[in-house]
Amino acid sequence: MKKIKCRHCKSEAVSCDFKGKKNKKNLLFQCQNQKCKKFFWHGRVKNEFNLKEKPDSAKNILIEKNLMKSLSIPLRVKGRYVYVLALSKQKDEKTESLYVGQTGRHPLQRYLQHLRKYKSGRGISNRLKYLKDYYSGFTTEEDSLNGEKVISKKLMKSYKVYGDGTK
Ligand SMILES: [Zn+2]
Repeated sequence: MKKIKCRHCKSEAVSCDFKGKKNKKNLLFQCQNQKCKKFFWHGRVKNEFNLKEKPDSAKNILIEKNLMKSLSIPLRVKGRYVYVLALSKQKDEKTESLYVGQTGRHPLQRYLQHLRKYKSGRGISNRLKYLKDYYSGFTTEEDSLNGEKVISKKLMKSYKVYGDGTK
């Protein structure tokens, strides 16, 4: 089992599934600091997919589905989420950068989709660091779109924020 540093707090992070059960996959990592517990995908997860095919090919969608199952990430979720991804800083940026989105998928699945450029055309794919936060309990898309806006506006006071909610 590979041990690497948390991309948020630099504590030890281990390869595990969504339930925290350790494994040797080295694809999904979770910080072991109880106050942090952030999840992040290792870049090598992209190599699990068939890169000769498009991100939305049937084969790649199936690979994603099986990956979710093997890492205990729920494929079906109740309601919708607003999620916050930490991004690496760009040269001209002075503050920490975040991406805020809303989804009917589990936030870790959506994060992976951004990483493998599936429904992610905002140029953030190469800047993804970790899943900073997510909020559940949104019942309709209208509800989560509004949540995305509210959370984006709040975060814009302290961070550089990307995503539809900033408009
Ligand atoms: Zn951490």
